[in-house]
Parts: sequence; structure tokens; C-alpha cells
Amino acid sequence: MLCTLADFRPEPYGALLAQLIAAHKPAILLAPATTRGRDATALAAAELDLGVIPDAIALTMTGETVRATRPVYAGKLLCAATSSGSTQIISLRSRAFPLPARVAGRSGPVTRVAPALTEAAIATKVVDYAVSEGQISLNDAKIIVSGGRGVSNNAALTPPPEAKDDKAKEIWRAQQGFALVRGLAETLGAAVGASRAAVDAGYMPYAHQVGQTGKTVSPDLYIACGISGAIQHQAGMRNSKCIVAVNKDADAPIFKLARFGIVGDLFQVLPALTAEFQKRLGK
Ligand code: FAD
Repeated sequence: MLCTLADFRPEPYGALLAQLIAAHKPAILLAPATTRGRDATALAAAELDLGVIPDAIALTMTGETVRATRPVYAGKLLCAATSSGSTQIISLRSRAFPLPARVAGRSGPVTRVAPALTEAAIATKVVDYAVSEGQISLNDAKIIVSGGRGVSNNAALTPPPEAKDDKAKEIWRAQQGFALVRGLAETLGAAVGASRAAVDAGYMPYAHQVGQTGKTVSPDLYIACGISGAIQHQAGMRNSKCIVAVNKDADAPIFKLARFGIVGDLFQVLPALTAEFQKRLGK
């Protein structure tokens, strides 16, 4: 019989986590602030009437209590939070913490546990999987190259006759712009992100959206191309370690956040950047 934990579903994972916390009463439980980590910790916390602090980007100890720092108000403020109760449950933002040092010779026992729920008790059924485009996940990416509404802004490009109305012409131009974004991303081994304007306009699927209502990322390098840097976009990428902006408008807000800025047309800048990186990386 297939194990009820074979596919991730919130109910069996949340129930088992709650059972393990109740049995072992750890002082602290840390989980990744991924969709799965957030789901399972929230369900377990609700089950046991415990607090949960999601999306921490820093932790400090005060006596036995952990103080977690997490961004609020679209990243404009940092909030310090503690939770009371027998177990403090905290999820950690991906890549906000350095990987733990590996201590040679240290090991721990792996304890096998049985699922807490039977299949009959689980409402959600996984019926199928579809392969996504096989691109690098935004959450795990060390480098992200993102495109915004500016990727469709090149009046010099003449759309083919099939692109009859203005929307079709805009989408065609955006495809040319995103081809340049992808070209740079492929050269750097990066994931491709997008602003909400680019997603809403149909240039990219929602899965690529970075920002308040998209993904929150903290790569080592974030290259924003044709993105103005609205506060809602910043909410998803302001914790990137190094931000580079390419924008025609020298007054675009993204330049206030960027460590390096290139004021120019992305249709000229991106091919030049890609060619230079290819040369330097021997590609
Ligand atoms: P624009 O603001 O239109 O900027 C386009 C930029 O491209 C301009 O700065 C322009 O100078 C530049 N440009 C134009 N042509 C070129 C060229 N050829 N070369 C170089 N530069 C060029 N936004 C998000 O991104 N993510 C979110 O999750 C999100 N959530 C939101 C939630 C709410 C509740 C609300 C109200 C808004 C949200 N938004 C979000 C939308 C956000 O407010 C902005 O509208 C959006 O981020 C703008 O996207 P953009 O920078 O691509 O477009």
C-alpha cells in the first residue's frame, strides 16, 4: 500500500508534525518557509494551539527564547517576534541564512515514524503531476534575471504580419525582450523572474512573478531589467545580496536599491552584457 506521505499534502504532514511535537516537546522547531514548510507548520501549530512565526530572516537567543526577525509591510519594516508556549515554531526564509557548517564525524540517529493519518482520513488526493518548463526554481536560485514591462518597449522592432492588433504586437515585442532576459539568465545559470506588470500583461506566467503577491527571493545577484522598482516589487527582492538594475530612466526607483545601475535601453544593454559574460565565463 502506498504511504500517505509519498506525495506532499498538508493534512498528513501537518498531522504527523503535530504528533511528533506533542510526543517529543522540542523547545524550538525550525522549518523552511517554503509553501510546504508554511503549510505543515501552520497546521501543526493550529492543532496544538501553539504560535508560529513565519518567514524569519534572522534569529537571536534571549535566555531560552528565540527572537525572530521577519519583514512586514512589504519589506518596509522588520518586526521582531517571539512566541510563547512549549514549542516555538519558526519558518526560515530560503537563502536568508548561510548553510550550516558541516562538523566532521558528527551524526544523529534517523528515527522512522509511521504516518499519523490513514488515506481515508485525507481529503486531498494527488491525481497527477505535470512537468513544468524545467527551469531553475526562483526560490533556490543564486542568480535571478527579471524582466518588467520595459521588455516590450522597443518601437524599432517590426512585428510580423500575423501580429495584427496592438496587443499581439506588444506580446511579440515582449517575447523578443524576454528572449534577451533568458539569454542572460542561461549564460549565468540563473532563474528568470518577472514583475507583476509583465505577468498581468501576459508576457510571463504567474509562477515567475517576484513581489508582494508573487515570490519572495533572496539570491546573491538580482538583475532587474526594465523594472521600475515599485514598492510591491521591492517587497519580493529587496533582500537580494547584490541588485543590478538596467533601466532607461535614470530616476527609476529601482536605482535607489541597486548596487550597480546601468541607465540604458535593455535591448542594447542585455546583448552586450550576455556577450561579455559569455567571454569571461568561457561559454
Ligand atoms: P513599470 O512600472 O511600468 O516600469 C517599467 C520600467 O521599464 C520603467 O521604469 C521604464 O523606464 C523601463 N523601461 C521601459 N522601456 C525600457 C527599455 N527599452 N529598456 C530599459 N528600461 C525600460 N508588482 C510586482 O512586480 N510584483 C508584485 O508581487 C506586485 N504585487 C502588487 C500587489 C498590489 C496589491 C498592488 C497594488 C500592486 C502590485 N504590484 C506588484 C504592481 C506594482 O505596483 C507595479 O505596478 C509593478 O511592479 C510595475 O512593474 P514594472 O516595473 O515592470 O512596470
